[in-house]
Amino acid sequence: MLNDSFGRTHSYLRIAVTDRCNLRCRYCMPDEGIDFKPHHGILSFEEIHRLVSVFATLGIRKIRLTGGEPTVRKDLSYLVSMLSALPGIEEVTMTSNGILLAETLDELHRAGLSRVNISLDTLRPERFRAITRRDGIAKVLAAIDQALSLNMHPVKLNVVVMRGVNDDELLDFADFAIRKRVTVRFIEFMPFAGNRWQSEYFISSDEIRERLSRTYALRPLGEETSSSAREWEISGQETRIGFISPVSNHFCASCNRLRLTVDGALRTCLLSNAEISLRDLLRGGASDEELTRSILASLNEKPETHPGINGLLEHENRTMITIGG
Ligand code: SAM
Ligand code: SF4
Repeated sequence: MLNDSFGRTHSYLRIAVTDRCNLRCRYCMPDEGIDFKPHHGILSFEEIHRLVSVFATLGIRKIRLTGGEPTVRKDLSYLVSMLSALPGIEEVTMTSNGILLAETLDELHRAGLSRVNISLDTLRPERFRAITRRDGIAKVLAAIDQALSLNMHPVKLNVVVMRGVNDDELLDFADFAIRKRVTVRFIEFMPFAGNRWQSEYFISSDEIRERLSRTYALRPLGEETSSSAREWEISGQETRIGFISPVSNHFCASCNRLRLTVDGALRTCLLSNAEISLRDLLRGGASDEELTRSILASLNEKPETHPGINGLLEHENRTMITIGG
């Protein structure tokens, strides 16, 4: 039922469960920090549950919890258990910076979390501190081991690549992927409010792949492996490397995702500002039918594609943290 005017069917909902974070990644969090939403402005677990139940009747099958850092939200495993028990929901997954995961992943997994993507932009402790403005790389590495020991395969690592910052670690990450049996996904640096995007930091997926292929033979896998990452296999290693290219080569034609922001707005596109507040409708007493009508009306307005880089730099987007990356 969640079809838009360009024939795309939506089965995947990403939910920002908090705008708080225990790291301060320079490419994500503005220097001055962000004004956190007051507690009452954020969706409660019961509200998220109600909205997801409506989305599930419309065809959403996969949920990803994100933020901010989802693991800093209290009692997250309770939310995971509520959502994974909903009829129609086949998979509840999460994107996390890994800092708190080694301690909490077991409980989250038992509550129904099936997979986790962990963000790690460097394998070097000093650099980790420089990028995230915090310590903690050992905790993230322990979280990766914990996910592997719980057999939450495939464990995926998200690496935002920035020229002059961490692009000298491409081969280290490929070695790490082979050694640990994880999928590493290199993400192009995107502009968001206050993250000081500059073209000299930007490095395209094509360039990253070309640099890797000087050392490794890469074999393309079918695009159906994921709608956002194009995955390649390191020949002879059964290891996958993914490329997420929102800037150089957008994947809008196969986009199957919707987003629920931390304050309960439905966004049909990460990089377009159009949104409607499902929270306000919910709190105003809307029935499931009324929520459905608003969701479908919003989907009908989903743009065919997001603006190119110049358009993105011109319009003021929310921070990634409040949208939910
Ligand atoms: N805190 C969690 C984490 O870091 O995994 C979840 C939220 S974070 C916003 C989700 C993903 O967005 C992370 O993999 C992060 O690296 C990525 N991200 C944040 N800012 C970005 C940017 N400007 N360009 C590309 N990716 C970005
Ligand atoms: Fe926090 Fe994730 Fe943003 Fe880093 S990328 S500041 S961990 S929300």
